[in-house]
Amino acid sequence: MRPDYDVIIIGGRPAGSTLAARLGKQGLRVLLLERAGFPELPAVSCPMINASTMEMLDEIGADEALYARGTPKIRRVVQALGAGLTLPFDWPEYHGRDYAYAIDRARFDAALWDNAMRFPTVEGRQNFNVTDVIVEDGRVRGVVGQGADKQPVRLTATLTVGADGRYSTVARKLNAEERHRHDEHPTSTLYAYWRGVQSFDQTGDPMAAAYASPDGLGYLLMDSADGTTAVIVEGRADRFENQPDSGEALYLRMLREQPEVWARVQGGERVTSVRGMKRIGNLYRQPGGAGWALTGDAMVQQDPLDGQGIYNAVFTAKSLAWAIREWRAGRMAWDEALEWYDDTVMARTYSMYRQMLDRVQSSLYTQLPEETARIVAQWALDDPTLKAVMGRFITRQIPAEVMRVLTPALLVNTVVRGGLRQLRQRIGAR
Ligand SMILES: Cc1cc2nc3c(=O)[nH]c(=O)nc-3n(C[C@H](O)[C@H](O)[C@H](O)COP(=O)(O)OP(=O)(O)OC[C@H]3O[C@@H](n4cnc5c(N)ncnc54)[C@H](O)[C@@H]3O)c2cc1C
Repeated sequence: MRPDYDVIIIGGRPAGSTLAARLGKQGLRVLLLERAGFPELPAVSCPMINASTMEMLDEIGADEALYARGTPKIRRVVQALGAGLTLPFDWPEYHGRDYAYAIDRARFDAALWDNAMRFPTVEGRQNFNVTDVIVEDGRVRGVVGQGADKQPVRLTATLTVGADGRYSTVARKLNAEERHRHDEHPTSTLYAYWRGVQSFDQTGDPMAAAYASPDGLGYLLMDSADGTTAVIVEGRADRFENQPDSGEALYLRMLREQPEVWARVQGGERVTSVRGMKRIGNLYRQPGGAGWALTGDAMVQQDPLDGQGIYNAVFTAKSLAWAIREWRAGRMAWDEALEWYDDTVMARTYSMYRQMLDRVQSSLYTQLPEETARIVAQWALDDPTLKAVMGRFITRQIPAEVMRVLTPALLVNTVVRGGLRQLRQRIGAR
């Protein structure tokens, strides 16, 4: 019997909707299933996207004017080091875009869904919960789920793709193997969107401002859509546990404990509930098997410290679309296509993943004496060479494996140049 669809995709946010668009471009009959009803915020996610992600969205015709509607372009990032000391950093240019967005995820995800629906062979169902995967003769044949009417529905496809996020039902039902799991330095996060937050400075320019705290917490305030600001606290997981309060009360207390942050936030109004995640996991999963594949967070999930999750979701979806095309054209067997997909994803994401693990450890778990940390951070962020290299790294213009080699030399040079600058300033002052 001919299956109902060529591909069923479970999960309709960045990974699922961009995969559906790419497969729609190939003319495949695609069904995109999503539990939520858009526009709706995802369970958790803060909002940073950069130019390398936007470039992949251009490839599928997603309209920036729609997904970033009302959202200011962030061209400056500042690091507040305490005692009024701030270090600015201009967002690097990447293929004509010299900005990032702190997007409104509800708006962004809905726009990507609508973009997928432009393709005539793509069909979508929202408010549809997939409850099981159909396996027959050792091969996945489709899914079982239910829509708003709660009637069980059986849907079949040649290929079933789990783009259903960290807690992927598809991965769980198929016992997808976990790889490269790292739980040594877990972090937790709490965040909400606010209106009426004070600008970072007199310019009133949209900005992302990071505030360090010596006790394993970091704060990030990013100007977002329609005059809102995303106010995020991320830190060592143990700082969020065994506290007298939790959830909203803990979030507000943490904001109050950082005077510079509280000074900006206190006159504002919180416009979303407080959301967050405890002990955010870092892992990869096997890319798929007979009749199935995983993509996005379902396949690779990492700490949000670097804000690379949406990039990874859109990139893994792009790579899977390529693998599917080669397989359907008969140029690769399915096993080979999966192997190629896995290799491509690992080549593009794994070094970044390792870098992120190292950075979580060094920035949240390593406690330098406060004054030393401040001086080194000042030297680092005041160093034009280091800032230029870091900017190009974050926008993925420098591969992470090159950064791993470069980093020790860069740091030594930064400290030497910083020390020399300070010496020159002292001599000048005398
Ligand atoms: C605290 C936090 C902050 C983050 N900050 C950033 C950031 O600043 N920048 C960035 O790039 N990334 C960030 N990320 C990561 C980013 O949110 C994810 O990488 C990205 O959303 C992954 O996209 P996805 O499409 O794979 O999965 P998701 O966005 O998780 O979407 C999965 C979808 O599948 C649906 N679904 C799940 N199960 C079923 C089912 N059984 N039936 C039907 N539908 C189902 C869900 O409803 C959901 O809509 C952050 C993550 C966290 C946890």
